[in-house]
Amino acid sequence: MKFHPLFIALVSTLALSAQDHSHKSSRAITFPDVPGYKTLKTDLHQHTVFSDGNVWPTIRVMEALRDNLDVISLTEHIEYQPHKEDIPHPDRNRSYHLALQEAKDHDLLIIHGSEITRQAPMGHNNAVFIQDANKLLNENAEDSFAEAQKQGAFIFWNHPAWYAQSPKGTPILSDFQKERIKKGELNGIEVINTGDYAEESLALALENNLTIMGTSDIHGLIDWDYIEKGHDRPITLVFAKEKTAESLKDALFAGRTVAVFNSLLVGKKENLVPLLQACIEVEKAQYINKTSILEVTLKNVSTSDLIFENQMPYTFYSSSPVFTVPAGSTKTINIKTLEKKDGITLKLKALGAYVAPKEQPTIEWGIKIDD
Ligand SMILES: [Zn+2]
Ligand SMILES: [Zn+2]
Repeated sequence: MKFHPLFIALVSTLALSAQDHSHKSSRAITFPDVPGYKTLKTDLHQHTVFSDGNVWPTIRVMEALRDNLDVISLTEHIEYQPHKEDIPHPDRNRSYHLALQEAKDHDLLIIHGSEITRQAPMGHNNAVFIQDANKLLNENAEDSFAEAQKQGAFIFWNHPAWYAQSPKGTPILSDFQKERIKKGELNGIEVINTGDYAEESLALALENNLTIMGTSDIHGLIDWDYIEKGHDRPITLVFAKEKTAESLKDALFAGRTVAVFNSLLVGKKENLVPLLQACIEVEKAQYINKTSILEVTLKNVSTSDLIFENQMPYTFYSSSPVFTVPAGSTKTINIKTLEKKDGITLKLKALGAYVAPKEQPTIEWGIKIDD
């Protein structure tokens, strides 16, 4: 069959634009589901020109698609509007609506959010799952929180360790936060914001049963601020029954999250342990020839490098007790079991993962040994 050159040109243009529209990229962030839940990749703290960010909301949607995220929220400072002279917008919901429009043909959830911005001790806080951002614009922070809660919002404390508001770089839980927690008006806390992981914020999360969050708080471009520097953006993995706004909200209130920044994973033990178990698959377990040295190949199905330390009674042959299973790749270790077994329990401490300040979890996998 002979094609007219114009037809060929047309077909290739179509193919190109269809490919463009999928926004597929080589930097897709991937994490496996865990038993009973879907693992949703979320970034619930971002800015655009509708507050102090530098991009139009559509760019945030496209960045999220390139990163393979499931959920985003644009959380403009409703009170701080440095571009107002150029982009006058009486409606503080505008950036949400623009993002929603851009995402409508994609499998990306846009959650309506807003940042409630004050000096210390109130600090910065994000309310997500709101109905109307305009109503959060109040003189008193207390009124903004009460309104957000009335709208059914999940509210979290942003960058509590931010040195501009806390010069020692440690969070200070004031009476304001204590009152909000008591009233159910403060539900989560960022332990990772931009590149900062604050152990003190993790301690506060655990002491006050706040949901553990990690966010990019992006103002510029994800490419410039993270990708070009060799990082993935910080995200929150949320373990939800389904990929719906309702399930996501339930999971956030229930505290089913892990904050991730590159190879650092922070979460409550009950969330982090099943995630790490699912991230590693045993590809092969076989004795080397006539020896009792067990060759085990581990595959990391996530996009975070995972660092482990041997915690078994057995030692390793020709491999360090501390090793990395690279993101999306495999690592083979040789375990001296001293006698041939049908199966063993692989027991490794996850050195890049924290369930409490300075406390890393030990993960176990049952291994059946091939003949
Ligand atoms: Zn902020
Ligand atoms: Zn912010």
